[in-house]
Amino acid sequence: MTQNSQDFSREELERYSRNALLAGVGWEGQARWRAARVLVVGAGGIGSAALFYLAAAGVGRLGLVDGDAVEVSNLQRQILHGTADLKRRKAESAKESLAALNPHCRMETFDLRLDPANVGEVVQGFELVLDSCDNFPTRFMVAEACWRIGIPVVSAAATGWHGKLLVTIPGPENPCYRCLVPELPPPEAAPSSTQIGILGAVAGTMGCLQAVEALKLLLGMNSDLTHRLLAYDGLKGRFQSIKRVKRADCPLCGVEK
Ligand SMILES: [Zn+2]
Repeated sequence: MTQNSQDFSREELERYSRNALLAGVGWEGQARWRAARVLVVGAGGIGSAALFYLAAAGVGRLGLVDGDAVEVSNLQRQILHGTADLKRRKAESAKESLAALNPHCRMETFDLRLDPANVGEVVQGFELVLDSCDNFPTRFMVAEACWRIGIPVVSAAATGWHGKLLVTIPGPENPCYRCLVPELPPPEAAPSSTQIGILGAVAGTMGCLQAVEALKLLLGMNSDLTHRLLAYDGLKGRFQSIKRVKRADCPLCGVEK
């Protein structure tokens, strides 16, 4: 038994035993996860998977933002919520599911829609943010607030059969989200899941990948996705890793903006 493992209860030692065996984790890593403060924006298809795995892994403090109620059309992908949760607030339903999985996680819920007036206040106090939202205006807002405050973001998106994942770590050498998507795309260029559908398992895949990157970042491990975009094509069963560059004329982080 190591010095670090003595900080955990017998139940926690069993619960997290497979984490502690992992290369690069150990009880020191587990203690780090337990001390972590992570915010997930959106308890939908992507956020459901990400939140479940962050809670399962033992992240000590989980914040979640969602201002919607559970609708029956959500249930084919938003696995935090069940049929009995219809019409309930997603923030409450998600909190209950996560507490049932791991009572050691402290949950903080924000039953609201992010807007320019509240986004800074909500993300403050978290060391890492997971952007699991389903629309570009929210994605832009979170990206900008976190870049300015200096909070890393793991951003995941999914529509139809496709998903995307990237990491932004604020810093002079690193590209931001707007280096990739400088301006808000017009609605016709970015069809939503209400227009073209979404496979629940694709959203879940992106949420799982997002959780992997988040858990690594919390341990100080590097992510290739700081300078790359991971694109998943569920129809072809193919992942592509695409290089991202910092733009001098980026509207958010560029020196020539
Ligand atoms: Zn940029």
